[in-house]
Amino acid sequence: MTQPPRLEVTHLAKSFDRRRVVDDVSLSVMPGQVTCLLGPSGCGKSTTLRIIAGVDRPDAGRIAVDGALICDSTTSVPPEDRSIGLMFQDFALFPHLSVAQNVAFGLGRGRDVAPRVAEMLARVDLPDYGNRYPHELSGGEQQRVALARAIAPRPRIMLMDEPFSGLDDRLRDEIRDQTLDVLKAEGTAVLLVTHEPGEAMRMADEIALMRDGRIVQRGAPYNIYNTPVDLAAAAFFSDIN
Ligand code: ADP
Ligand code: MG
Repeated sequence: MTQPPRLEVTHLAKSFDRRRVVDDVSLSVMPGQVTCLLGPSGCGKSTTLRIIAGVDRPDAGRIAVDGALICDSTTSVPPEDRSIGLMFQDFALFPHLSVAQNVAFGLGRGRDVAPRVAEMLARVDLPDYGNRYPHELSGGEQQRVALARAIAPRPRIMLMDEPFSGLDDRLRDEIRDQTLDVLKAEGTAVLLVTHEPGEAMRMADEIALMRDGRIVQRGAPYNIYNTPVDLAAAAFFSDIN
């Protein structure tokens, strides 16, 4: 039997004020792989992610994790029970908590969480930072702590919404690479939202190209790059950097 996708989204739809913002979206992420949801600003990427995270309800469609239904017209597993981690650009660290307390945040109480916190801080190359506070860290270091915090509870899926756009160019490449290494080492399936074709080309195993609420093309990065579905897709990829 073939393995089911870690995340499978089928025929998702959502309207705001009778305008279809997410229109028949289907996509999947295999375990240990990165799927990029790529498209221009306003095309419906964040709305799709919010529905998958469970903080918004779809009008239609279904979502399954490892073959188990978590959302359809009659079912909605609450966000905290979906085994989904989130990383957003403005998903800030708690300023009043130390680095170690930030990383421990999602691990619950009463358990011995210290070994997992230490393991995560080592993973992101900040082994001695546990007692520092967020304001004592650079932007890149804060991003790495946010990554450690997001993966500490071992989510099966990580949803990332433009998580690198607040970083300067030089740092961004480094953090992208490190984030990928950490997520691959943990075997996490990643759905990464971006409006930058270069970022998708660099990070994705599969790209789902989105426009006006619809997925217009899905495939391996170089297949999409070399064989764009139409002129608009070709133009979108032409300002790659
Ligand atoms: P993206 O993340 O691709 O930039 P979004 O999913 O944030 O796109 O938004 C898609 C469209 O839906 C936009 O036109 C946006 O204004 C609209 N939209 C998003 N959320 C809401 C909402 N809660 N109410 C009304 N319109 C919304
Ligand atoms: Mg967005």
